[in-house]
Amino acid sequence: MKTNYDLASRNNNLGTETAFSVLAKANKLASEGRDIINLGIGQPDFKTPENIVDAGIKALKEGHHGYTQSTGIPNLREAVSNDIERRHNQYISPENILIVPGGKVIIFFSAMLMGENGKEILYPNPGFPIYESAINYSGAKSVPYQLSEDKGFSFSTEDILSKISKNTSLIIINSPANPTGGVVPKSELEKLVKGLEKFPDVVLMSDEIYDQFCFGENNFTSMLMYPEIRERLIILNGWSKTYAMTGWRLGYGIFPNKLYEKAEKLAVNIHSCVNASAQYAALEALNGSQKCVLEMNNHFKRRANLMYKKLNEIKGFSCQKPNGAFYCFPNIMKTGYNSSEIQNLLLDNLGVATVAGTSFGKFGEGYLRLSCANSDTAIEEALSRIKEFFN
Ligand code: PLP
Repeated sequence: MKTNYDLASRNNNLGTETAFSVLAKANKLASEGRDIINLGIGQPDFKTPENIVDAGIKALKEGHHGYTQSTGIPNLREAVSNDIERRHNQYISPENILIVPGGKVIIFFSAMLMGENGKEILYPNPGFPIYESAINYSGAKSVPYQLSEDKGFSFSTEDILSKISKNTSLIIINSPANPTGGVVPKSELEKLVKGLEKFPDVVLMSDEIYDQFCFGENNFTSMLMYPEIRERLIILNGWSKTYAMTGWRLGYGIFPNKLYEKAEKLAVNIHSCVNASAQYAALEALNGSQKCVLEMNNHFKRRANLMYKKLNEIKGFSCQKPNGAFYCFPNIMKTGYNSSEIQNLLLDNLGVATVAGTSFGKFGEGYLRLSCANSDTAIEEALSRIKEFFN
């Protein structure tokens, strides 16, 4: 029978994350026998540490098979609170912590809580593509603020403040940043906090998912350091990057009192709770040894150094040293190709998967994202293929 149904129009506003389609194409080429090096997807190439895996298995064996509290198991919320106190010397009540299936969920929740027709939400561009997508889906207008190479891919507070209108409900920031590897200096964050005094009704969402991968001259500063904005601050964080747990689907949000109950309602409506055994694994991640985090940080630092040096040897490429996360974001304007042409050329001709800068927004044109989450050997081989082609 012929059908002709209409799809709800908001679905036309959803964007996507190109890294997943690059991954699918790279996997397909590899399955056809091509020698593919994947510098596309943003996930640690390490396995989840054994003590964490064991804790997940133990939880399953002990019978943790049912629903848990929609907010997360109490022990885990408490462990997150302790972790924050240990690392930032700030007390956050477990009552403000919501355990969710992946940090990404907090982006969607923030957009749903603060965005609707007539509102405006500011977000970094180039930035994680889900910001723009979730804002557009909420009905709010997505207002990009540019992260530029000449500012080390940090934001300019003046620029952000100048874009705030009477309709602005939310500002999203991300440091250390995907895709640029930029880290916003503390002085700039302080300026932002001060500047926001004039806009008391604007909420801030700080995506701190890469907080433990910071190795440049700017140290990481959490927005939790500023109690004066705490009542309008949402924090996104989680286990995916820090403990190499992308596939476990675990993250958390910190919400102020006014927003927490509504965020919890969204959780109940959408996913009920996070799978129980993963939460026990997450508990072990926070309570067990943190040596694995330090080790991964050292690996990413070494590889980022290796990658950015090698990138600068390629004709037409110039790359700033990343300060955090695990990406290099070279400028490729002098190659004569645009971002998506380079992405396709590298994958189709050289077997190197990367992601075009434009996948992270319009200001990403002229750039390319390469992930350092691969072995030194793979990075060297990929970059020598690219060098040979361009030089
Ligand atoms: N925020 C940023 C900046 C990211 O790069 C990612 C993942 O790539 C996420 C959030 C989502 O993390 P998760 O896998 O925990 O949903």
